[in-house]
Amino acid sequence: MHPATRKAIFRRLQAANPAPTTELLHTTPFELLVAVMLSAHTTDRSVNAATRNLFPVANTPAAIAALGVEGVKPYIRPVGLYNTTHIFRVANRTGLAPGRTPREVEEALTATTPAEFRRNAHHWLILHGRYTCIARAPKCPTCIIRDLCEYPHKTRAAPARRAARRLPLPSRVRSRRPRRTRRA
Ligand code: SF4
Repeated sequence: MHPATRKAIFRRLQAANPAPTTELLHTTPFELLVAVMLSAHTTDRSVNAATRNLFPVANTPAAIAALGVEGVKPYIRPVGLYNTTHIFRVANRTGLAPGRTPREVEEALTATTPAEFRRNAHHWLILHGRYTCIARAPKCPTCIIRDLCEYPHKTRAAPARRAARRLPLPSRVRSRRPRRTRRA
């Protein structure tokens, strides 16, 4: 991707959301640290479902250590183990930082993201992947970086729906054979 295009993408994401932030529930830096580590394995929604119960019980290093591995396990059970980060998908589709593995994408993003956007780039890409560039059917027709994105399989707008009012069907004309009259 041309550096000017990369810059334009981040500028547009920035204009749409000047102060992006995480959607992981937290009230302290330690809670955020735990939530971020868990989010590497699943969605923010699953992480929030787990930490909503865990943090009231243990939200400090000492409390977590006191719970122990077996004590923590039931709380983080909702956290799956599939590793599918929004950033990996968005970076590949857009052409911002193509890579075969999350690590390759991470290194490419680190090397190419302009310094002025580095602080918030991960938020923009996560949010863009969560709400617009979704996995199954990306919302390309309404995407704010559609003209800059290099994904060759962009989705198209659904065809306009037909008027709800149904037109009456033409009346059927049945061809009938002339009835034979029985001979007496
Ligand atoms: S145009 Fe489509 S594929 Fe490209 S970033 Fe937007 S939603 Fe994703």
